[in-house]
Amino acid sequence: MKITFLGAAGEVTGSQHLIETDSRRILLDCGLFQGRSEETRPKNEKFHCVPRKLDAVILSHAHIDHSGNLPGLVKAGFEGPIFCTRATADIASMMLRDSAKIQKEDAKYHAKKAAPGEPVFEALYTEEHAREVAKLFEYVRVGAWETLGDDVRLRFHHAGHILGAAITELELLDEGEWKRLVFTGDLGRRDQPLLHDPATVERADVVITESTYGNRVHPNSADVKSELQRIICAASTKRGKVIIPAFSLGRTQMIVYLLNELRNEDALCRVPVYIDSPLATRLTDVYRDHQEDMDEDVKETLKYDDDIFEFDGLTYIQSHDESIALNKRPGPFVVISASGMCENGRVVHHLKHTVSDPNSTILIIGFQAAGTLGRQLVERREHVYIHGRRIPLNATVETINGLSAHADAEDLKWWFDELQKKGGCGQAFIVHGENSGATALAELINDCCDVPPIIPQYGESFEV
Ligand SMILES: [Zn+2]
Repeated sequence: MKITFLGAAGEVTGSQHLIETDSRRILLDCGLFQGRSEETRPKNEKFHCVPRKLDAVILSHAHIDHSGNLPGLVKAGFEGPIFCTRATADIASMMLRDSAKIQKEDAKYHAKKAAPGEPVFEALYTEEHAREVAKLFEYVRVGAWETLGDDVRLRFHHAGHILGAAITELELLDEGEWKRLVFTGDLGRRDQPLLHDPATVERADVVITESTYGNRVHPNSADVKSELQRIICAASTKRGKVIIPAFSLGRTQMIVYLLNELRNEDALCRVPVYIDSPLATRLTDVYRDHQEDMDEDVKETLKYDDDIFEFDGLTYIQSHDESIALNKRPGPFVVISASGMCENGRVVHHLKHTVSDPNSTILIIGFQAAGTLGRQLVERREHVYIHGRRIPLNATVETINGLSAHADAEDLKWWFDELQKKGGCGQAFIVHGENSGATALAELINDCCDVPPIIPQYGESFEV
């Protein structure tokens, strides 16, 4: 069996790994490389496999760095099945159309800004290609073996990362011998709201594992609900606003669910809450359709509350005008809006109208990359820059760090310890991490593997 690492190798985006046996060519994930377009464009445009010769794609989850180049693959001739969970298919259909739309807008913007003679980039693919992808999805139930022929079978397990995310277990017949390969996809944390804990697996000949936070330990997530309660009630007493920048996928739904829990417990002060992101609203509808895929706590709540994403005083904002109208509305109220790093989207105008108000609060609930407005807020600068304007930062800035969707070093160690109890692994390949995370994980899991783990580089192939 040959494995070629075509993305998320030595970095965190562009997840794509090609598995070849004597009879099969299967691609694990087909993600988009994200970052500076001069670097990512060539990698996103050229496939190192021959798309029309692939037998299948297995999609671990719907995040764009794992699914975002599926329309490009279809554009390049792929017509085979894409195996994933039903929730992943529903979310990815939405995310990929959105990705095509963003690319179209970006291309238009760059064409307008380009100097004469400067090359202009077209979108990598169109909404039509994204729709073609949706026709190729084949649902696989979590926990059930799916036979893809006499020589391959596949089983998904809960990954605990976002709704629908799966760990892939593959059994492949190669040169007369069955081999077991496990791909973690993105592994989540234990005890996260809404989601099942990541499942553990039995001995595998090969494990391809993510390593995003292989060198970090996250704070405990247990206090998130009480922190939310404290922060919102404090702002409410001052009649201020609480602005929560949040990713449309995953983070928004977790916060709404926790607020709904607080409301059910009658523990949250009665302030209006607005979700102001059209994509987050559509994705919440998908989450609502998959409430049965969520953890035991959700099942308990559903016995007396038929909608965990709805409570009195919660409004999903639709139009741009309604969104703008919130700027004139006096507090107290809460706005949850995208983007998560405050770089674009509707949250920017909410922040512009809030950061100078000493009675209001900005609540940061996710990682803020260097250079983003979110990072300026987390660092509590005296002034922040929004749309080119220098605005004093008088609002309170609070951060809640317990909501990471990725396993940390302790979670990863636990997952591999469980694997070791069930036989360990032959060869581990460490992907989806910066060098520091990957090397730290290699040390952590060394004892679980028959031979030292390998950190592959982009384009490298291995016979196993
Ligand atoms: Zn992910």
